[in-house]
Amino acid sequence: MSLSVHVCGSAGTHPGPGRACSGYLVTAPASGGDDAQAPARGDATPGGAGPTRLLLDCGNGSLANVQRACELTDLDAVLLSHLHPDHCVDLFGLYYALRFHPAGPQSMPVYAPAGAEALLRLMLSAEAAMHLPKVCRFHTVAAGDTFAVGGLRVELRAANHPVETVAARIEGGGRTIAYSGDTHVTQEVVAAARDADLFICDATWLDREGPYPAGIHCTGAEAGRMAADAGAGRLLVTHVVPTTNSAEVAAEAAGFFGGEIAIAEDGLEIVL
Ligand SMILES: [Zn+2]
Ligand SMILES: [Zn+2]
Repeated sequence: MSLSVHVCGSAGTHPGPGRACSGYLVTAPASGGDDAQAPARGDATPGGAGPTRLLLDCGNGSLANVQRACELTDLDAVLLSHLHPDHCVDLFGLYYALRFHPAGPQSMPVYAPAGAEALLRLMLSAEAAMHLPKVCRFHTVAAGDTFAVGGLRVELRAANHPVETVAARIEGGGRTIAYSGDTHVTQEVVAAARDADLFICDATWLDREGPYPAGIHCTGAEAGRMAADAGAGRLLVTHVVPTTNSAEVAAEAAGFFGGEIAIAEDGLEIVL
């Protein structure tokens, strides 16, 4: 029983040197069915056949790193936390890779807040846009939704960000991972991370360089406080803007959270 996260993009807001924007590959082991729940919505894949791979966010450059970990056709679904470019623009690359796959056209469930398909269409030619729904099977999701992807159960909560953003609590393989998406401090995200084995939390800024406007991102200190409030086992600080030192952000978090803290770097894998 285990659950793993492969960091495919750790940079906040824009890519940095050798760092892609948000992407986290969550993999659950093959399940005999004990963990698989009946899907509450969408076309979630059935559990039991093999490992389940869910890609959380698909920001600039992350798709290149996903392919270091698995084939794109090994992905069971993509979940977008929100529609800011640093979380969704590599969906274009995924679309083309699947549409023109050597084995023939493929398709993929994409769970995203309202407006994802319309936004993507804006960048595509009329011909490409016509094929989009066949390749990306969009499912509009919102806070409060639950759904299953193979051996993973996903529960969504409202993050605190200027556009509609969902935080995710993901259970599978006997473990729980929470992902804040982009968020400022909110009890909704704390609830998503309650007793999670791993809390992947927005820690874009340094508290000591603030104050920053409310309702956008967390500082390292705020990420640490949320992890402590949630009783999370481990904290992964991420989405640090490339002009800020990630180690300093993690040190701020350590002032509030006594558990293990890891710093997100592209290629990092955490097995729970
Ligand atoms: Zn972001
Ligand atoms: Zn954002």
